[in-house]
Amino acid sequence: MKEWIERRRWFARVLDLIYPGVCHACGAGISGNRALCGDCDAVLPGLRDPFCRTCGEEFEGRIDAAFECPNCRDLEFGFDFARPALPNHPVLLELIHDLKYGRKIELGNELGRLAARAFFEDPRLEAARSGLWPLVPVPLHRKRQLWRHFNQAEEIARALGGYVGLPVLRALTRTRRTDSQTRLSRSQRLKNLRGAFALSRLGRSFAATAPPGVVLVDDVFTTGATTDECARALRRGGVQKVVVVTVMRG
Ligand SMILES: [Zn+2]
Ligand SMILES: [Zn+2]
Repeated sequence: MKEWIERRRWFARVLDLIYPGVCHACGAGISGNRALCGDCDAVLPGLRDPFCRTCGEEFEGRIDAAFECPNCRDLEFGFDFARPALPNHPVLLELIHDLKYGRKIELGNELGRLAARAFFEDPRLEAARSGLWPLVPVPLHRKRQLWRHFNQAEEIARALGGYVGLPVLRALTRTRRTDSQTRLSRSQRLKNLRGAFALSRLGRSFAATAPPGVVLVDDVFTTGATTDECARALRRGGVQKVVVVTVMRG
């Protein structure tokens, strides 16, 4: 599987040299391991105030900048806050979909670059950057990863790490396969995921040093059920603080 990924990455670079790519959104010619042209990239808006400081949900109107949405106010998460880099957008949705289901591993770079915006725009992530907190990708179940050949969260984290100067640590494993979450309500999701994540060997030895924090990385933040479970596993192991960064708010 590792070889497949390496071959695929190498192949993407060679292809890029022979045939410069086209922008995923408008079809204009581009090059340099990119999936969006400068124009399309520039119109993708980052999160705009006011947005929920816990889940990144945007709201209309004028509210105190540091507010928490009514949904999050009643919930207790294992992470401190989740910071999607961008709000829901059809272009992003397509990029993420193509990475996951089209197995276009080369899109990981563009999505990692977009996720880096969260670090550049949100001062709350400065502690993570200066403290060199590792990026921990949300794991896939081994069987699903075998089938897909790679974990999209890990591909995004690898690229993101390059843009913000943070290491990637595979600290988590998925202990059992869970049903697809898309049709489930929040409470069903929580039940579905209970105990589904554990620390990997690497994660256990890292967490045992009581590190100040980690950044959990995923493609999309939806209800937060998955990242919540992951964060709880990390905290139980000894990690003091968990923050979440995703490319998009679902
Ligand atoms: Zn374009
Ligand atoms: Zn919220």
